[in-house]
Formats: sequence, C-alpha cells, structure tokens
Amino acid sequence: MRLQNIENFIVKFRSNIKYIQIFMFVGFLCLTIMPLYSTTPLFNDTIFTSSILLSQFLFWGVWYGLCLFSVIPFGRLWCGVLCPLGAVSQWAGKLGPGLKMPKWMRWDGWLLIMFFGVTILGQTLDVRDDPIGLSKLFLYIFILAIIIGLLFGKKGSRPWCRYFCPIGKILGIVSRLGAIDFRPHKIRMNGGLSKPLYIEGRLCPTDYNLPYKVSSNNCIACGACIHGKKKSGLGLYTRKIGTENFNITKHDASWSEVLFILFSPGLCAGGFLWLILHQYQVFHDQLGTWFLERNDLWFFHTASSWISSQTWNQHFNWLDILTIILYMLSYSIIVGLALSALMAISSLLLRSKIHDFKKVFISLVYQFNPVAILSIVIGLCGKFFEVMHHDFSMSNKIASAIKLLLLLASMLWTLQLSWKKINSITKKSTPKACMSFISILICTCLILYMWWPAIFNLSYMSVVEQIRKHIIVPG
Ligand code: SF4
Ligand code: SF4
Repeated sequence: MRLQNIENFIVKFRSNIKYIQIFMFVGFLCLTIMPLYSTTPLFNDTIFTSSILLSQFLFWGVWYGLCLFSVIPFGRLWCGVLCPLGAVSQWAGKLGPGLKMPKWMRWDGWLLIMFFGVTILGQTLDVRDDPIGLSKLFLYIFILAIIIGLLFGKKGSRPWCRYFCPIGKILGIVSRLGAIDFRPHKIRMNGGLSKPLYIEGRLCPTDYNLPYKVSSNNCIACGACIHGKKKSGLGLYTRKIGTENFNITKHDASWSEVLFILFSPGLCAGGFLWLILHQYQVFHDQLGTWFLERNDLWFFHTASSWISSQTWNQHFNWLDILTIILYMLSYSIIVGLALSALMAISSLLLRSKIHDFKKVFISLVYQFNPVAILSIVIGLCGKFFEVMHHDFSMSNKIASAIKLLLLLASMLWTLQLSWKKINSITKKSTPKACMSFISILICTCLILYMWWPAIFNLSYMSVVEQIRKHIIVPG
C-alpha cells in the first residue's frame, strides 16, 4: 500500500531535518564528553546520579537495540533523520573537492571489515564500561566519516554510509526484513542487469539508480527521492514483513551480507563471553605461560592507550589485547564455519536443476537473518537489564525470561521463514525437505546454546576478575 500522506509530509518536512540532526549532534557530544569529567561511579550510584552510567545506559542499553528494532516498522529512519554521524559526513562533503571514489574503495567487503574492526576495537577499548574508551571509539569513527565525506562526498551524497559505516551494515540487513520500502511506482525489471543498480553523483545519497531500485539494504530512508506527485520519483510503500528477505534472489543479494549473517553472531558472542566465561581465563593464562617460557616479555607491557582501556582498576597489556582478538575471531570462525556447513548440507539436500546450490544456499542463509541479528543485540541488551536490575529493582529472573523470549521469538521467525522457503523450493514436504529443515533447526539451537550463559547471567569468574572487568564495582 502506498503511504501518500507520509510522502507529502516528507516533502514538506525534509528541509527541516538538518535541525534535528544538529540537535542530535549536540546531544551526542554531551553524552560522550560529560562522562569524561565525572568521577568513577560507586556501587550505589544510578543513572540519575552518574553521567557515566547514564551515558552507558543510553548508548548500549537503549540506543543500539532501539535503533535496530525500529528498522522493522520504520525502515532506516535513524539514518535518514536522526543520525549525527551520517549528517556530519554529508555536511563535510559540501566543503571538499568531490573526488571520484576509486573502484577499490567501492568494494562491498569494507562494511564487513569495518564491522569486525569496530566490534573488536569496542572490546579492547572496553566501550561498554570505560567512558574514555567510548569517546575514543566514536572519535575515530567520526574522523574517518568526516575524511571520507570531505574527500568523496558530492551533491549531498553519503559515501561513508554507503560503503563504510559498520552500524549501517547491520541496519541494512535488518531493513531487508522491514515493513516499509521506498520503491519505484512501476517496478522495472532490470533484464540481465543491463542497467547498473547504482550510479554515483545523482539524487540518491547512497547512489541507487532510482528507477531500477530493487533492494532496501542501502536505502537510508532520507526521502530525497520522494516528489509527492502521483507518478514521478519513488513512492513510500508498505509490504509484508520479511518479503524482501524471503525473495532475496530477486533483491540484489550480497555476498558480504551472507558472510555477515554467518560470521557476526560468533564474533558478537565472543565479544561478550570473554567477560564471563572461565575458558577465556584459561586461554589467556596458557598463552601468557607460553610467552613467558619463550621469554617474550613484551606481551606483558601495558598496551597502547589508542587501542586499549587504561582506566579505573583496569590496565590492559598486549597479552590482553591479543587474547581478546584471538578469542573473538575464534568464536566467529568456529560458529561461522559450523553454520556454513549446516547450511551447505541443507542446500545440498534441496538443490535441483531449477534451484542450483548457490541460489539455495544464499536463500537459506538470509532466512537466518532474524536470529543472527538478535544475537548481535542480545549481549548489549545486558546493559539495559543490568540497569533495570540495579536502579529499578527488576528481578534477574524476569530479565532472563525477557532475553530468552526475545531469542526464542527470533529463532521461531527464522524457522518459519526457512520452512516456507524450503517448501517453496521443493513444493512438498519430502523427507529431504524435512532433513534440510532439521539442519537449520540445529543452527538455531547452536545460537541458543552459545548465548545461554549470557541470558542466565552465568559467570565463572573470581570476584577479583569481576571487579577488574567492571561486572561488579567495589563500593
Ligand atoms: S549509515 Fe551509519 S553513519 Fe550513515 S546514517 Fe546510518 S548509522 Fe549513520
Ligand atoms: S532510495 Fe535513496 S533517495 Fe530514496 S529514500 Fe532511499 S536513500 Fe533516500
């Protein structure tokens, strides 16, 4: 259904978006700078008495989750209207030379590399708990976004959002599941891809060749393509939730998104579990002993403060940094390979002359989208429930029940989409179809197993280690 009233509102309102973005930018600066001048919170401090706790709660407890969940009903409204980072990068473009972006920079894989890099750096800087780490991470991201915008931005384009923003990568994948879509009034089939799907330097800030737009992953919902007239421009339409994701092979599926769905849940789990699992301590100590035996004492020196947390009662050394990186990457690779193998088995069972292996594999991986995305947020949800428990007396049992329900709901959604996809490929419930479904069921159970300790706040660490990692703060 076309949402013409909202289109008219967008046309009237869009010249004012910059005021919202300025407001958001100022709010963002306050939230990152104020905590730097606050004292370390004590155990009885709350989000109402400590700007550090307030900033942590708003960034990791509220913003990240809300931002992701809002994409399903509203599209990437965060990007188009609220995000200060994208806005600053776009403004920078108005001052720069507007260079043509080299081909290697337009590589689809940068978004993936940026997501992995920022997620790992977020851990070594301890952005969840260390206000200085949080400021450093955002400072690096802002500087990069401004440089990219300054050099390559032209006519209001957003090369940073299109090719590099790690948050945009996740939002883009979620928007495949979303209920709204900016699309041409008449869908033009791009016969044999003779027309490019993206063209630089036109109306769309993320370079969509608008008459041939078939996907929503790179659409930042800025509304620039809406003219408000009946036939020209693009229109804002509702669609059944999950439609684009379900029919992904017609909507410009991307290899980097496939890798993201398979390998990011493990990375995010590793980024949370190193804080609470004893296996991390064992790994850390074994690696440390190995270096000691070889007299490699350099690893025990304090790490560079550019990439590590050095505040409060925590001073990371190079061994900490190396162990965190290896631990997170190992989780990503082990879980990613296990998911890939199970998906491959599932696809082999379904392939036919009409549906080749590659097509089936891509389609099935995308149906895993809901549970993959939820497993990215669930670790960070911990901050929300931590505050709810400490400041608002929410019981830990209720917090665990909510987290479990969220994860189960995403698993059910994935299973429902997968079952439908399998049936659309095989046309009937054959034994092969059932076996293929079981393989995907195992994938979802693997995610549940991986997140179990986080959902139920299981922790095997000593009190000293918990203090060091800010899980508990000494009074
Ligand atoms: S893509 Fe990233 S920088 Fe751009 S608007 Fe979205 S969140 Fe902000
Ligand atoms: S298609 Fe382009 S111009 Fe239209 S809303 Fe999306 S990002 Fe903006």
